[in-house]
Amino acid sequence: MPYDYIIVGGGSAGCVLANRLSEDPTIGVLLLEAGGGDEHPLFRMPAGFAKMTKGVASWGWSTAPQKHLDGRVIWYTQAKVIGGGSSINAQLYTRGNAKDYDAWVTDAGCEGWGYRDVLPYFKRSEDNQRLVNAFHAYGGPLGVSYPINPPPISFAFLRAAQEAGIPFNDDFNGATQEGIGHYQLTTRDAERSSTSSAYLKPIHSRRNLKVRTDATTLKIIIEKGRAVGATIGGPGGTETLRADREVIVSCGAIGSPRLLQLSGIGPADALEAAGVPVVHDLPGVGGNLQDHLDLYVICECTGDHTYDRIAQPHRTAWAGLQYLAFKTGPVTSTLFETGGFWYADPEARSPDIQFHLGLGSGIEAGVAQMRNPGVTLNSAFLRPRSRGTVRLASVDPAAAPLIDPNYWAEEYDRVRALKGLRLAREIMRQPALKPYVMAERLPGPESESDEALTLYAYRSCKTDHHPVGTCAMGNGPDAVVTPDLRVRGIDGLRVVDASVMPFVPSSNTNAPTIMVAEKGADAILGRPPLPAAVL
Ligand SMILES: Cc1cc2nc3c(=O)[nH]c(=O)nc-3n(C[C@H](O)[C@H](O)[C@H](O)COP(=O)(O)OP(=O)(O)OC[C@H]3O[C@@H](n4cnc5c(N)ncnc54)[C@H](O)[C@@H]3O)c2cc1C
Repeated sequence: MPYDYIIVGGGSAGCVLANRLSEDPTIGVLLLEAGGGDEHPLFRMPAGFAKMTKGVASWGWSTAPQKHLDGRVIWYTQAKVIGGGSSINAQLYTRGNAKDYDAWVTDAGCEGWGYRDVLPYFKRSEDNQRLVNAFHAYGGPLGVSYPINPPPISFAFLRAAQEAGIPFNDDFNGATQEGIGHYQLTTRDAERSSTSSAYLKPIHSRRNLKVRTDATTLKIIIEKGRAVGATIGGPGGTETLRADREVIVSCGAIGSPRLLQLSGIGPADALEAAGVPVVHDLPGVGGNLQDHLDLYVICECTGDHTYDRIAQPHRTAWAGLQYLAFKTGPVTSTLFETGGFWYADPEARSPDIQFHLGLGSGIEAGVAQMRNPGVTLNSAFLRPRSRGTVRLASVDPAAAPLIDPNYWAEEYDRVRALKGLRLAREIMRQPALKPYVMAERLPGPESESDEALTLYAYRSCKTDHHPVGTCAMGNGPDAVVTPDLRVRGIDGLRVVDASVMPFVPSSNTNAPTIMVAEKGADAILGRPPLPAAVL
């Protein structure tokens, strides 16, 4: 069957598109994924993500030295596996704040992407195991549920946050985002619900959909201003594949601007510097990179209150058996299942800090374990003003891209991030956590001044893995795609993934990406958008 659509990148967005575009059996769809399959059981186990992020399932990239972080180079995991980020992430299901999407309309000109417009698409994707109301639905492909058996320390954390003045919230994706609580997770029946397992597996028998893993797209083929196919490389050499209707790029916020630039679409000066012939000068490609930078407090526990000791072989074996036999125990935990949203800036339009309680201390790369198990409280400033870039190091499609998030280029971001870190500290010092927490180890009591905390942040900060914005949608001069996700100036080519978000949502980014793909599928098929929500 000839292909109508070629989707490049089988990640969070690409798998959603593959499902929706192939619903009509007369439409031929090809999904190309550079990574392999997700058969390994660790992909299914909620706790498995801790093992997957640096191994076979990622591209192995790092950032450029960060000018405003004392030259730090930060490991920058991006998924390389079917399901993409949704197959290796921490499974937190958060959508951001309603005002985020309204700002896409008012500040970036993305007509049709206001909160009331996108809410029906969040709901269309959702199979919520507990909630049905104006904000939630069941029956969609994506499993969403609450943690199965959070340990007592996570309940003590909820009490401590309330002692620190942050109210309890049972649904960050409902009427109010602010507060502290257990996260909803993209899990169903104690298994990860990735877009591969939720959107692809149930339709594996569709004859009009072909999924090819281990197929890296080297270039989009452009003929007379129109995208007509893709050149791929894989174990069998290079191959050219053609699409009758459209090529859709869904390679993620790093991969999509990278592939467009490898195909000669991007800012002419950057392409020339990398030695790539310019096909279409599109200045916004690879610009506007936004991400959440993560800081954290690590405390030593008074006893065995977290999962640090599960790494001991006999306990790993027991936890595995418990999971396989009863679907209970530590393996059902995503390790980051409690947290919430609060304010660094009390005047902010909506919460600008997110907390993730990590049920261990070894979870953060490079942190040596303590004598007792540890507990981590991460804090991230959610609406950074710094903007970075994704550029090519060379014309070689195998070369790693130059990823420069340019963290803390704006002083505004540093000041608010440090406030978030201080808030995290304050929560961990509250009476409710006293029976569980012996002492703060990082940054440590000696680090009190802003200067000391800044130096600590330089050494220890990390990415929250939420890059967006590098093929931004909008109507300004740097917009790469239109609000119906067409690449400006090239026919038959769209981008549908996290890269099209003009501003990073005030949350994790998997659910927003899935929403973008659900809505993008309707645009591609020429269907009218779902009616706006009435709230
Ligand atoms: C370690 C980690 C933890 C995270 N935790 C959370 C979380 O708990 N909750 C949350 O909401 N978000 C989380 N995120 C973020 C979220 O998963 C991403 O925002 C989301 O997956 C982005 O989806 P995407 O479709 O844009 O890109 P991806 O899911 O990254 O998909 C892009 C796909 O394209 C493929 N690809 C790239 N280039 C090519 C090419 N040239 N040819 C063929 N294929 C190609 C890649 O291999 C990849 O599979 C996390 C991300 C990471 C990496």
